[in-house]
Amino acid sequence: MANISTVAESKDITKLERTGAHSHIRGLGLDDALEPRDTAQGMVGQQKARKAAGIILRMIQEGKIAGRAILMAGPPGTGKTAIAMGISQSLGENVPFTMLAASEIFSLEMSKTEALTQAFRKSIGVRIKEESEIIEGEVVEIQIDRSVTGGTKQGKLTIKTTDMETIYDLGNKMIDALNKEKILAGDVISIDKGSGKISKLGRSFTRARDYDAMGADTKFVQCPDGELQKRREVVHTVSLHEIDVINSRTQGFLALFSGDTGEIKPEVRDQINTKVSEWREEGKAEICPGVLFIDEVHMLDIECFSFLNRALEDEMAPIVIMASNRGISTIRGTNYKSPHGLPIDLLDRVLIISTTPYTGPEINQILSIRAAEEDVSLTPDALAILTKIGEETSLRYAIHLISTSSLAAARRKSTVIDVVDVQKSYALFIDQGRSVQFLEEHEKEFMF
Ligand code: ATP
Repeated sequence: MANISTVAESKDITKLERTGAHSHIRGLGLDDALEPRDTAQGMVGQQKARKAAGIILRMIQEGKIAGRAILMAGPPGTGKTAIAMGISQSLGENVPFTMLAASEIFSLEMSKTEALTQAFRKSIGVRIKEESEIIEGEVVEIQIDRSVTGGTKQGKLTIKTTDMETIYDLGNKMIDALNKEKILAGDVISIDKGSGKISKLGRSFTRARDYDAMGADTKFVQCPDGELQKRREVVHTVSLHEIDVINSRTQGFLALFSGDTGEIKPEVRDQINTKVSEWREEGKAEICPGVLFIDEVHMLDIECFSFLNRALEDEMAPIVIMASNRGISTIRGTNYKSPHGLPIDLLDRVLIISTTPYTGPEINQILSIRAAEEDVSLTPDALAILTKIGEETSLRYAIHLISTSSLAAARRKSTVIDVVDVQKSYALFIDQGRSVQFLEEHEKEFMF
């Protein structure tokens, strides 16, 4: 396969996105020292788990780990998925994050291992570098090169502007200054971001760093030299899976949009792995391990677990975050029981982050955030009663009651949810506990 193609701008629309329930989560809510703030970025409480997730996040960002597995273990509704979403939000768009509910593996029209392989490869990013012309309206990095006696030095100046005139103006001022101030290779110069004025600072970066520490509005460059380039380097991130799909079918990347990717031949993947390794050696591409989140992981069976164990050892494996709300339970496909329904050998290689039930004030806080997210107002009494319901039934049930109570309020032409609306919803939609009670009382009327 001489001509392996990639799709730069396309998004994998077959990727599952569960917004809605977690749309209020914007990150992990940590400070720079990775300490969890009480409430930030939509996140409330669960400090220990968030802090642990922050450490994992930092390791992913630094590209230090690949092929590690993390298990988020805790009772239902304790924020396991919310924390995974927080990690995904913090990673940004260029790090692949794939979400998969374990049961999906069994409903797809392909073998379980093929489905898992695809999920793994969707979670590995390939950063491909290319050169292209600067287009008006872009934020660019200007690279200035000039040969000087004794060798060629390069300087880089990042101008955060979308205005082409400014870019050329600053670039030209920089070249002028190089000539006028006799700036030599190795010198450190400062460029005032506002005026574009360039001054020579000497030959040491220490002073430049002092300026940075003082927060001076200047940019420091080492030895910019030469001519303004009109080309720049652009970087696209695509997943290994996207490259697989484009190269495995006659319809090429259209298969990505239809989601009908079918099974991909191992030879195609081998060729792509070889090609990507070549690109890496030539400095044209970097591998960027992303995250594969497998929710309700206890739904996988023993064959999938054994696949996971092996796949995690691959050099190009992503970080796998699994979540389970099960205690000691049967490993699917066996008669054995094990913690979280995971085989011991897999458990042995995972880092476990546990989540614990919320306190009343935390539930109160989460409900307020959700109400704001759904753009509804609650009276303090209504919020108090919802909190009580959350404590006695479940957080999820209380969150659901916000939307239904808001409809009840609208029916009585009020824009604010009051206690009566919550009461109405509570009577109309029963929670799990009352549902069980109802079943027990009316057992004989149901089919067996
Ligand atoms: P399950 O085991 O049932 O899958 P879970 O532990 O994954 O549950 P989530 O789905 O994350 O629970 O949480 C339930 C709801 O509560 C979601 O809407 C989630 O966004 C919200 N939530 C949970 N924890 C927090 C938190 N710490 N801060 C803000 N919102 C949260």
